[in-house]
Amino acid sequence: MHSTHLHDLTVASAHPTSEGLVTYYRCPCGAWEVRTTAGLDAAIAATRPGGD
Ligand SMILES: [Zn+2]
Repeated sequence: MHSTHLHDLTVASAHPTSEGLVTYYRCPCGAWEVRTTAGLDAAIAATRPGGD
């Protein structure tokens, strides 16, 4: 029975774009995940404490 598992993601390819580096990860189960450095930057910015 297929259940949720921790995907064993490995970098399949990476491409620089105007929005940052787009990296494709692949799991042997067939799942794919796409991450961008632009999104990572946004996440860091969102969690960064305010102030100077
Ligand atoms: Zn998987």
